Amino acid sequence: MVAKIALEEHCMTPGLIEYWQPTMTDVPAAVADKVLGRLTDYSGERIEIMDRAGITRSILAIAGPGVQAERDPSTAVKRARESNDQLAAQIAKTPKRLGAFAHLAVQDAKAAADELERCVKQLGFHGAMINGHTRGLYLDDASVYPLWERAEALGVPIYIHPTDPVVPAPVLDGTKGIRRATWEWGFETGSHALRLVFGGTFDRFPKAKLILGHLGETLPYLLWRFDSRAKLYGVQLKRQPSDYIKDNIWVTLSGMYSAEPLQCAIAALGRDRVMFSADYPFEDAEGAGRFMDSTPMAEDLRKAVAHDHAARLLGLTS
Ligand code: MN
Repeated sequence: MVAKIALEEHCMTPGLIEYWQPTMTDVPAAVADKVLGRLTDYSGERIEIMDRAGITRSILAIAGPGVQAERDPSTAVKRARESNDQLAAQIAKTPKRLGAFAHLAVQDAKAAADELERCVKQLGFHGAMINGHTRGLYLDDASVYPLWERAEALGVPIYIHPTDPVVPAPVLDGTKGIRRATWEWGFETGSHALRLVFGGTFDRFPKAKLILGHLGETLPYLLWRFDSRAKLYGVQLKRQPSDYIKDNIWVTLSGMYSAEPLQCAIAALGRDRVMFSADYPFEDAEGAGRFMDSTPMAEDLRKAVAHDHAARLLGLTS
């Protein structure tokens, strides 16, 4: 087995369960209970499955939407901080196996920036995971600049995780099975990233680091079209959209155990931009591990995708 760092691995802390539960209303209660059990386990089955999958280290993040769904900004700030402290206490029990992305209240970007810095400098976290829009606010909004500024200064990535859109698109109504993780989240999350690219966030913060799951939420497949249409529509950027996508964005597998999009992402973005993740417990981590071990790929590239790129991006030395 090749050694792996897994980057989109979910967990839960007690104060945030009420925000997560509505995301499980369309699955049987017994399944939701089992998932919650796995999300709140930090030392038992989680580590055993990591061992079987060859995952040497998992970077944990709260299963969304977390405090991003909270109406009251001060409550969101307080609960995010509590959650980060609780998560830090959990990972401190097995510090060589677990790391964390900070949970942040984007409603108050200055507070989120301060909390990110506290999490990185005091708790040893590796960046932040943001669960898509925050009650309709996307990360390209000018109010969020303080968070990008701080992330850039700290040199840590921000991972955008899928969430439900503000308003469902009519085209997805009335046909069972095409909403949420099938198609809706990919469009929502890819669009969120394109707002940052086309809106000039990476001109303003050229060293910002963004991570997307699902092998780039279809963006790697469409680079040519983004560049072509940005010209047609007169988009004013310093560089072509594909340049930012290649330079500011990293992508992870997150449950896409499929060779063709993996090869596309590597070919489109470059061999140092694609990283492993299992999306535990929502996907089968052992299946992800077997895929990473066996998908046709040069061995030096396999090692890099599975482990080394993530180690470099997150500054992990062991
Ligand atoms: Mn996930």
